[in-house]
Amino acid sequence: MKRDDRMTDFRTTRREALKLAGGVAALGAIAGAVPTAARAAAPMLGVSRPSIYRFKLGAFEVTTILDGFVQGNGPHPTFGANQPAETVQALVAAHGLPTTRHENPYVVTVVNTGKELVLFDAGNPKGRMKTAGHLSDLLVTAGYSPAQVDIVVLTHGHPDHVGGLMADGKAIYPNARYVFGAQEFDYWNKGDNIAENRKATRELFMQQAAPLAEKSTMIKASDEVVSGIRSAAAYGHSPGMLAFHIESEGRRLYNWADTANHYLITLQHPEWHVAFDQDRDMAVETRKKTFDMLAMEKIPVVGFHMPFPSVGWVEKASTGYRWVPASFQFNL
Ligand SMILES: [Zn+2]
Repeated sequence: MKRDDRMTDFRTTRREALKLAGGVAALGAIAGAVPTAARAAAPMLGVSRPSIYRFKLGAFEVTTILDGFVQGNGPHPTFGANQPAETVQALVAAHGLPTTRHENPYVVTVVNTGKELVLFDAGNPKGRMKTAGHLSDLLVTAGYSPAQVDIVVLTHGHPDHVGGLMADGKAIYPNARYVFGAQEFDYWNKGDNIAENRKATRELFMQQAAPLAEKSTMIKASDEVVSGIRSAAAYGHSPGMLAFHIESEGRRLYNWADTANHYLITLQHPEWHVAFDQDRDMAVETRKKTFDMLAMEKIPVVGFHMPFPSVGWVEKASTGYRWVPASFQFNL
């Protein structure tokens, strides 16, 4: 074919041009559809959260595990129980949190001292809710078998802390001994003066914790659990709650259990009441004293209800204190 003939082939009439335009449009539609058909739309996978976090503390290894979480209405009136709803809502809104929905995580701490594997609290009962009670499964994912746990330390007797001690009447950690604060154990075990809203807590304690009394060491504040782990009084949230100093090779960590149970509200306003606290005024005093000590001495913290991985610092702020999450400093 000569060059001129080729040119002629591409010359089009108006009718042909319209046909061509339609064809091009059709082609365009196909072109648009082809890539989608070739790579099917990625499925929605839902939220994915980290649930195991391990770091070094001197010669110890510390692992935090997300037993689960609960979502519900709040934070008011659970948090800021003695404040108007608008005051609490204004605070959370100013920090980017929802005003009428709330999430509370449950985070268990495991310390491997090299000699003992120590579990701080046992999490929720398996099956209590879909979103919690995962500790014993995640422990395996984290590299430990329940049979390896040497000591289970119970900070206090509430369901999210003692609920995961037994399943079907059997101890989940078959080789462990247990450490309870004597004051806390006696309170729930005796069962005098249990408030109406804590009757179920007492019932669960009798199922989950009381049968383990014979295998338990009852301690008081300032007692040593093992070398490097020592208790501290943290009364108020519950009658005999204990917190724990953890130290190895000069590196320190404080497990404050439920001293603070909202990383923003109870830190910024330790004086605001929390509905979960049994003696609300005493809990306020414990928070103030604890935050002061941790901020002054710059001691890092693990907290059962802090956002996962639940490791951070307390800093003094213009009002109250501020939670500062940890980053990589432990591993260097
Ligand atoms: Zn708790």
